[in-house]
Amino acid sequence: MLQYLVILLDDTAPAFCHADNPLSERFLMPEETLRRALLFGMKENMMVQFVYPDYELPDGHRRLIESVESVKIGRDIAVYNGVPEKIETSAAVVRLSIEDLIAGAQQIAGLLPQTQNLNICLTDIHNFRDEQAEAYSKALSILNAELLQLFRSGQPHRINILTDRLQLKEMHNCGAGVTNITLAPNGKFYLCPAFYYDERTGLSNRMNHANPSSSRSVGDMVNGLQIPNQQLLQLNHAPLCRICDAYHCNRCIWLNNRLTWDNNTPSRQQCVLAHLERNASRDLQQQLKAAGMDGGEEIKHIDYIDPFDVRVQF
Ligand code: SF4
Repeated sequence: MLQYLVILLDDTAPAFCHADNPLSERFLMPEETLRRALLFGMKENMMVQFVYPDYELPDGHRRLIESVESVKIGRDIAVYNGVPEKIETSAAVVRLSIEDLIAGAQQIAGLLPQTQNLNICLTDIHNFRDEQAEAYSKALSILNAELLQLFRSGQPHRINILTDRLQLKEMHNCGAGVTNITLAPNGKFYLCPAFYYDERTGLSNRMNHANPSSSRSVGDMVNGLQIPNQQLLQLNHAPLCRICDAYHCNRCIWLNNRLTWDNNTPSRQQCVLAHLERNASRDLQQQLKAAGMDGGEEIKHIDYIDPFDVRVQF
């Protein structure tokens, strides 16, 4: 069931996930579209997440935005590309490449005390090579060491790729098209912002079987949502993911679509990275337990890093 409505207020609102935003010219969502979007969200009982551009919005937009409870990405939640010098918000997204995370692990560890809630978003998962696995795990262990210090001093901080798995007992993934939907400034719905960017940059339409055109939209404010074969986005239709326990994994359908041409079939890159993180969460859990702290339900030892390797033995 859809629970979250992500509203891109402007074409230049920052990317906050894997896909870069290639749009550099301002196009502010018209005030009337915003008004109808909020009405839609209210009727559907959805929590609104606004994604802000880096300029001040007109008064009319600001009044509408303040009329609803919301999460404000680009304001309350800062978004950085690359490792920032410092973080001044209690929640932040840091988008960076795998190599930047590996090279900047100490610097990122130093940022952890500055924010309660850090979301690391890797922007080049598609380029991941198995040879990077050891270095990636080592970077995660550097972050774990800082997390352990913080937990010890009574300041448990969240970092999505390490602490989320400690709390989770079932899959909790991105949920694009299933638990959340994105409304772009043009008044059309997309599974997530990345599909809007694909449409704007003219990428081919591999997914939207119902409309053989370059459109990647799944509805608009007039006709409502039309998500073709929505069941094919769901966990129970994902043979690999439903037997997996990397519960924190994004299961990014845009990345799947790009790398395997199927929204619900993950790439090896996605799975291996998620399993390295899962195993690092297990290390953190064991260190927490050894220090007498609660690390959540036991994360079991497994001897694979890609569920596909297990699945193909069946
Ligand atoms: S690690 Fe792979 S199989 Fe597991 S949830 Fe993520 S994408 Fe699905």
